[in-house]
Amino acid sequence: MNGKPRFVMCICTGQCPGFTSLNLWELINYVRGELDVEYAIVHPQLCVDDGDRFIKDYVKPDIKYVIGACDPKMQRKMMKDAFAEAGGNFDEQVVSLDLRNMSTEQAMAKVKETIESIK
Ligand code: SF4
Repeated sequence: MNGKPRFVMCICTGQCPGFTSLNLWELINYVRGELDVEYAIVHPQLCVDDGDRFIKDYVKPDIKYVIGACDPKMQRKMMKDAFAEAGGNFDEQVVSLDLRNMSTEQAMAKVKETIESIK
């Protein structure tokens, strides 16, 4: 893999009850400012058509993506085809984190642990 991991937060339109205890901007500023990532971004809904189009534009081979969103199996099911169409490989490039029903502090700790485990 090339370079530092990229952190992508999918916030499920901002309306999902699973993310109500998460302060999105506190989390994203923590990740981009304090952790060893290339950068951190937010997408509103990766698993619908414009999310597919974004993945196809955005994903490059040989880069690791840490995706904070819903259940890892759901993420895989909904994103692997778009990764493949971008020339990537979801299974090799993505670490999926389920950050639903977590406090901001819990989500920060989970992302920190994950980023630090990628070397
Ligand atoms: S990928 Fe998961 S977290 Fe993101 S919008 Fe779809 S269901 Fe919600």
